[in-house]
Amino acid sequence: MKFPSMAEANGRTLGDEEVAAVERVIRSGMLNSVWGSEARALEAEIARLYGARHAITCSSGTAALHLSVVACAPDPGDEIITTPITDFGTVAPILAQNAVPVFADVDPRDGNLDPDAVARLIGPRTKAIMAVHLFGAPARVGELRALADEHGLMLIEDCAQAWLTELPGGRLAGTMGQIGCLSLQQWKHITCGDGGVTITDDDELARRMRLFADKGWDRAAGRSHASFGLNYRMTELQAAVARAQLAKLPGVVAARRRTAVQLLEALKDLPGVRLPRPDGHAWWLFPVVCPDGDAPELAAHLAAAGIPARAGDLAEPLNRAPVWGAAIYGTSRFPLDGYTPHPCPRAERMVERTLLVIDWNENYTSEHVELIAREMAKFRSRP
Ligand SMILES: *Cc1c(COP(=O)(O)O)cnc(C)c1O
Repeated sequence: MKFPSMAEANGRTLGDEEVAAVERVIRSGMLNSVWGSEARALEAEIARLYGARHAITCSSGTAALHLSVVACAPDPGDEIITTPITDFGTVAPILAQNAVPVFADVDPRDGNLDPDAVARLIGPRTKAIMAVHLFGAPARVGELRALADEHGLMLIEDCAQAWLTELPGGRLAGTMGQIGCLSLQQWKHITCGDGGVTITDDDELARRMRLFADKGWDRAAGRSHASFGLNYRMTELQAAVARAQLAKLPGVVAARRRTAVQLLEALKDLPGVRLPRPDGHAWWLFPVVCPDGDAPELAAHLAAAGIPARAGDLAEPLNRAPVWGAAIYGTSRFPLDGYTPHPCPRAERMVERTLLVIDWNENYTSEHVELIAREMAKFRSRP
């Protein structure tokens, strides 16, 4: 049985609407979002969807996270606490602003940041907490926001895997922190190839992010540069495709939820696996925890049956990445001189032994779900 993949047309929702959107932009002659209308319209649509005052488009999810760190304005050497189980796009922007990533350990049930582990690492140089809603499961950002407020820190939410993830009480992930970051990269719920968006209710944070994404250029002030910035602008082509995709987002998430719940039901009596909680989950992937440590063997069994499953998700948690032993700028390791990331034993065990992820997709049918459930049961009942 073939599984639809986000790398192929059969696992994406790209169709006539996106083709028409691209054609509309090309025929208009204006492909740049400074003078066009598509990126501004996408911002208005995302701001409305999230109930946020501002949405700011940019060229990637990593760029969105970079804008959020810029807005937070750490001094060189200041620390930002984040999770070791995430895409490197969460961490690269911290380094880009000469700040220091501090890795806190995770909750072994879902791989999301453990607020108690975060609390233990807050020190005089801590500037922000960057939480990731891993695989689409809501991180404990209510507790993290309380912690951040108590210590005068900013909370940034990385929602690259968490479009329409709901927090307890129903509000959307990305609206609990001062800034939420979204990605439109090929492998996310919706895509325009690459693209990013930040959301915030804070006018000053929004101003800093807009300036940085446009070379520090305050367009209202003539050809005058107010601050340091790069060119992180989204193009009109990306924005037009993203708008067509955004209209399909509720359907994408609803379909993923429908089949994920079917799989949860089918696996509910299977021994040796801890299943994800469905509450608010946006099912970017379907994660399973194998507390006995046989996730690599289960992943190999599923992969041999043609199911797109992997153990660990990463080669190593980011606190163990080779980058921390390398030079950062030229021959310099600034601001990481003398830096060794903290051990994160629970994240390390998850990545090495207990975490299994199954690619998820809005075009899965009950047949896909049944095959996965059958093969998982077969693995568990082997002699
Ligand atoms: C994909 C991803 C990013 C980076 O987004 P890009 O658009 O690929 O730059 C950051 N964080 C997480 C959690 C991601 O999944």
